[in-house]
Amino acid sequence: MGVLEPLVLRLVDRARRKSAWLFHFNAGACNGCDIELVACLTPRYDVEQLGIRLEGSPRHADILCVTGPVTRTTREALATIHAQIPDPKVVVAIGSCPASGNVFAGSPMIDGPLDRIVPVDLYIPGCPPRPGAVVQGIAEAIELLVARKEAV
Ligand code: SF4
Repeated sequence: MGVLEPLVLRLVDRARRKSAWLFHFNAGACNGCDIELVACLTPRYDVEQLGIRLEGSPRHADILCVTGPVTRTTREALATIHAQIPDPKVVVAIGSCPASGNVFAGSPMIDGPLDRIVPVDLYIPGCPPRPGAVVQGIAEAIELLVARKEAV
């Protein structure tokens, strides 16, 4: 790209500032929180019109959304995915499970809570949280992401 490279990179960065791409990881959730997250993409909430979308690869994502209490079998994959998301990034815990283990707390199959495995920036409480709360949490995560990008 030569001399245009810095300009193109700045334009891409500017376009992506408010158009966060989410990577969703189910770390042992019952699917309740996953359903509420997917509901945010449906016509009623339609976060995609704001440029927010679910991304299939962590390497292209800005925000890691984790549901579930983090089980022994998901712990390693979670750490790998977190490392693959480029900095600056934001980690959002959706639901009460990643925060405390919730109904799974005390199980020998659980390695959580989430902040034992990766640093957590935002918690969206609830079992499960309603889609409106998820949208609010993602909006806060984007503000944090923008602040981190501007600080770089
Ligand atoms: S917080 Fe509740 S709804 Fe969400 S994964 Fe845990 S048990 Fe399921």
